[in-house]
Amino acid sequence: MKTFRTIRELREHLAGLRSEGTSIGLVPTMGALHEGHLSLIRRARQACGTVVVSLFVNPVQFGPGEDYQNYPRSEAGDLAACEREGVGAVFAPAVEEMYPQPPKTSVHVAGLGEGLCGASRPGHFDGVCTVVSKLLNIVEPQAAFFGRKDYQQARIVQRMVEDLNFPVRIELCPTVREADGLAMSSRNRYLDAESRRQAPGLYAALMRAGDEIRPDGPPRDALLETLSGQIAHLVPAGQIDYLELADPQTLEPLEVARPPALLALAVRLGGARLIDNIVVDEGGAVL
Ligand code: AMP
Repeated sequence: MKTFRTIRELREHLAGLRSEGTSIGLVPTMGALHEGHLSLIRRARQACGTVVVSLFVNPVQFGPGEDYQNYPRSEAGDLAACEREGVGAVFAPAVEEMYPQPPKTSVHVAGLGEGLCGASRPGHFDGVCTVVSKLLNIVEPQAAFFGRKDYQQARIVQRMVEDLNFPVRIELCPTVREADGLAMSSRNRYLDAESRRQAPGLYAALMRAGDEIRPDGPPRDALLETLSGQIAHLVPAGQIDYLELADPQTLEPLEVARPPALLALAVRLGGARLIDNIVVDEGGAVL
């Protein structure tokens, strides 16, 4: 495995592989790797000849007062994990390498980024789309792998790639959870013991409310009331940022809880803002 700090050296390395006909898979991350990230790497290894993992805490996707400075960083452990997983190349640039001058260009996907997390994190998805565009242009992968845990992000990136003709396939991968159901996240380490004890209730609440998403399901408000009731019961210390029932493709609010449906939440709990979601597909399967 090789580690690159500069765009030029990474590009030279990848050009060599490409000329040998090797297909490239990209797994973009902000580091502090956990099993969720590793599952994306494993899927990328199955699908592609070589895997590039980026480790970059992207300043432009953090808002004022968010956790950019304190975001967990653990590069040595991340490199060791990538090595164990058979990653071909890690790209771990400094901020100055990615943004040598304050960028005047940013990528905005209208509509999809305004609801859900976009409402409480203005500009966040523009920052994500801008850095993902840069990474796609730097790495030129055949496929890039994103987790369903950040469902809105993955849909926005898919739409950006369609609209701007990036020659890449975006693959969504399942959410990896702790044994008790909590979606793995680098931010889970912010949780104190009591918050960690309550946190799995978020997924339990999604699953219980998700049971009601059926062809004869209830109106939106009733479903969201069920969900907030479950959260009050299972995660009493949680402060709801948003609960949303939406079309999984367009992310537009749904008026009736009928499949296919995305049920998503963000909840503040003990210093962390946790997000999670389920999608009930056309056939009633929960993803
Ligand atoms: P992050 O490092 O948080 O920016 O995440 C990098 C990628 O890993 C994104 O595509 C995330 O959706 C994905 N990811 C994060 N947590 C999980 C998880 N628990 N299961 C699956 N994918 C995840």
